[in-house]
Amino acid sequence: MPSLVDHLVELTRFRDRDQADGLLLETLAGLLRPQFLALHRCVGEPPDVRWLTRVHGATPQGARRRSFEQLPPLDSRPEWRDCVLGQQPVAQPGTPGRVLFPVLAGAQGTGVLEIGAAQPLGAEAQGTVAAIIQLYGNFLALLDYGQRDALTGLLNRKTFDEVFMSAMLGHELQPVAADDDRTRTQQRHWLAVLDVDHFKNINDRFGHLIGDEVLLLLARLMRTVLRFDDQIFRFGGEEFVVLLAAAHEADVIAVLDRLRQQVRQFDFPQVGRVTVSIGFSDVRSADIPTAAFDRADRALYHAKTSGRDRVVGPSALAAAGVVEAPAHSGDVDLF
Ligand code: GH3
Ligand code: MG
Ligand code: MG
Repeated sequence: MPSLVDHLVELTRFRDRDQADGLLLETLAGLLRPQFLALHRCVGEPPDVRWLTRVHGATPQGARRRSFEQLPPLDSRPEWRDCVLGQQPVAQPGTPGRVLFPVLAGAQGTGVLEIGAAQPLGAEAQGTVAAIIQLYGNFLALLDYGQRDALTGLLNRKTFDEVFMSAMLGHELQPVAADDDRTRTQQRHWLAVLDVDHFKNINDRFGHLIGDEVLLLLARLMRTVLRFDDQIFRFGGEEFVVLLAAAHEADVIAVLDRLRQQVRQFDFPQVGRVTVSIGFSDVRSADIPTAAFDRADRALYHAKTSGRDRVVGPSALAAAGVVEAPAHSGDVDLF
């Protein structure tokens, strides 16, 4: 039986948030043997923040890839919301064994841990749980600091290879339930590269600070338009990479084109209109990160040379006569 310290060492060894969440639950389950244990994580961008719940012993929701819209909104669970905003543990008067603890990464509330025990937790147990959660929160903040870009808060390039490989190898994508269970389809991975059009002009006309502001707003737009479990990276100055899962090329085009349109409709302060070009490719089972990236980058190049402000994927490349095997929709890949 591993000791608490062993659990904590293990907990801080992971660089993947999902795995670390799972280990936090395991650590507390081993310590308290509660009847019920769950981590409710805040996901999404204000004002549309929702709850992603992971119950100890149950299949994580992330693996089932529920859509963001299916998750309960922040205000629909006032107890959890008050706990995370108030940053204080909340005991339930009617059910003494049930306590909510806020999970804070640095100063920021990121979720709520819910414990349901047969007996009320003693002061000492409560103190230990609070300390473990605090340690975990500090670890999350450090993780974020190393993995995120300081300007936009998106994942940084250094993290890309790691996330890419773990997406490819670690998690076999589950069939996703559409509105109707009979229409379950197999998900696959796609990689998109997004580059701001004529960004140099923006810098030249308005200065670098305004240019940075455009990048910041763009990152925010991307987080709002894309799904909460799509991975978004800031790759270089004004270049972004998105790793997403979808069943068909047409679904990817729909998402990326919605993003393109939202960007061109957005009124950037001082600058006005900004457009982006996007190239994407399917990710293949034998791909190393650079192979998928290079294909998407070729599609981006085509988007740039054929007029900018557009989305180009495998089919569009093939239609334009650029040599590129189209992604076979419905093809079940190895990962
Ligand atoms: P294209 O439509 O072909 O992409 O044209 P572009 O002007 O956007 O492309 P180019 O790659 O020639 O220029 C990108 C510019 O982005 C060059 C550089 O001055 C600017 N840049 C790179 N990193 C940053 C950054 O962090 N902040 C700001 N403000 N500008 C940056
Ligand atoms: Mg560029
Ligand atoms: Mg550019």
